[in-house]
Amino acid sequence: MTVWLLGDQLHPDVAPLGSADHVLLVEAHAFAERRPYHPQKLTLVFSAMRHFRDELRDRGYDVTYLEADTFGDALDRYFEANPGDDLVGVQSPSHGADARRRELVTDRGGALTLVENDLFLTSRATFDEWAGEDTGSGTFRQEGWYRHVRRETGILMDGDDPVGGEWNYDDQNRETPPPEWTPPSVPRFEPDATTREVQAFVADRYEDHWGASEEFVWPVTRAAALQARDHFVSVRLPEFGTYQDAMRDGEWALSHSLLSAALNLGLLRAREVVDPVVAAYESGDAPLNSVEGFVRQVIGWREFMRHVYRRAMPELASANQLDQTASLPSLYWDGETEMRCLSEAVGHVHDRGYAHHIERLMVLSNFALLYGVDPAELNEWFHLGFVDAYHWVTTPNVVGMGSFGSDVLSSKPYAASANYVDKMSDHCGRCPYAKTKTTGENACPFNSLYWDFLKRNEETLRGTGRMGLMYSHVDRKGDAEWRDIRERADEVREQAANGTL
Ligand SMILES: Cc1cc2nc3c(=O)[nH]c(=O)nc-3n(C[C@H](O)[C@H](O)[C@H](O)COP(=O)(O)OP(=O)(O)OC[C@H]3O[C@@H](n4cnc5c(N)ncnc54)[C@H](O)[C@@H]3O)c2cc1C
Ligand code: SF4
Repeated sequence: MTVWLLGDQLHPDVAPLGSADHVLLVEAHAFAERRPYHPQKLTLVFSAMRHFRDELRDRGYDVTYLEADTFGDALDRYFEANPGDDLVGVQSPSHGADARRRELVTDRGGALTLVENDLFLTSRATFDEWAGEDTGSGTFRQEGWYRHVRRETGILMDGDDPVGGEWNYDDQNRETPPPEWTPPSVPRFEPDATTREVQAFVADRYEDHWGASEEFVWPVTRAAALQARDHFVSVRLPEFGTYQDAMRDGEWALSHSLLSAALNLGLLRAREVVDPVVAAYESGDAPLNSVEGFVRQVIGWREFMRHVYRRAMPELASANQLDQTASLPSLYWDGETEMRCLSEAVGHVHDRGYAHHIERLMVLSNFALLYGVDPAELNEWFHLGFVDAYHWVTTPNVVGMGSFGSDVLSSKPYAASANYVDKMSDHCGRCPYAKTKTTGENACPFNSLYWDFLKRNEETLRGTGRMGLMYSHVDRKGDAEWRDIRERADEVREQAANGTL
């Protein structure tokens, strides 16, 4: 039996491998010319695929590894050598990918059977049963799903109750580190000969792509991914929860796991990161607020996003309920801005293809939301800029959560002023903008944009859940104040548009 695996299904025990002797892997290159994907993302995927090929061969599999421009070109070659072959594959989380692959195979006289993707923790049927089959009205809320998965799997459960008595310990997870805090070490995986070869190929073929290629530290093998996981559990997990929402000047990783790239490539199964984290709690090596916080990210948010995407596509990709039409300002490409929080976050993405969750949500997409960027254009930027980006995960996070292009997964936008950034970081003290000023010279751009955003979108947002408090502040402002806010917001928009913010 021949198993055709994709570049994000690189697990040694992925469902159909057990009964296979022949594996097909296709390294397709032309897709990467459609957008200027970050060189580290391309290096990561191609290098992980080549390492996986070598590991499978070492384990005795007969591997056909084809480098081609497109899947179609590779399959032409494959079926010329193996006419009428029946392939088995694993379902892809990306919209339309399965149908496209099946068509490519049948057009060439073969057949493709697809099996459930067991790299995720929950099946499509589990979500559909929980959410109901009706795809029409569809809004979904993560909290209910998360509790359902915990009950179904028994993860962090004490009989029918959550371990510790609470489902959620977020009230302990909003600290910022004191000045003397030293961030835990980040595991580094130096490029080996295969990765260096891929780096050279990427630099040559995709020379004008956006992002730095120098500091490549991502795990590209199963062994390295397991090492990264173990390092996280023993070194970074204890403080993960406490500083989960924090940002710190000059610091890109804090205590985050940095495991999303390995998870999304399939080097690690979801369960393989959850179980050791729970075990660390049970052995007294990590506190419950960190353990529950991490478990929620993976079995709550990650699984939830994948299912919501499946149910909300194709509409989700172009959803734009606030009718936002502005283009992404140039500072997202060149990092040229005096705004300290934004220049730091853009710099992190440029340098490593990574920024942690709060930088993604409360700085990068918050600014775009307030500024009025078209959600699809922001989604493009996230999709090409991050090492862990795939359409299935970027789209619900950027279009749904970050841009509030749709209310499919949240009832209110994640919109915030400088207040939030100041509370959760030390950036404002190093920024030439004044965090407490909304209007006038040097006023922090977030502030006027925030109020202007609420005013502009009043019709849609005032009635939506949990916006009451914000609109009570809106109602207290007089005409003169609104005139000044609009003036400053216009000025900020103009400066952002001409690259002088
Ligand atoms: C605007 C925006 C864009 C995002 N784009 C992506 C993306 O392209 N790819 C991606 O994997 N994640 C994305 N996320 C989710 C999350 O920010 C990243 O998964 C996380 O920052 C990755 O870093 P980490 O592994 O250190 O995560 P940690 O903070 O250590 O979290 C642990 C794990 O939880 C999972 N997780 C947490 N939150 C989410 C979420 N909202 N959606 C999916 N998985 C989650 C990830 O697998 C992550 O590795 C995005 C979030 C936002 C707000
Ligand atoms: S003052 Fe405003 S722009 Fe500067 S770091 Fe704070 S929130 Fe960001």
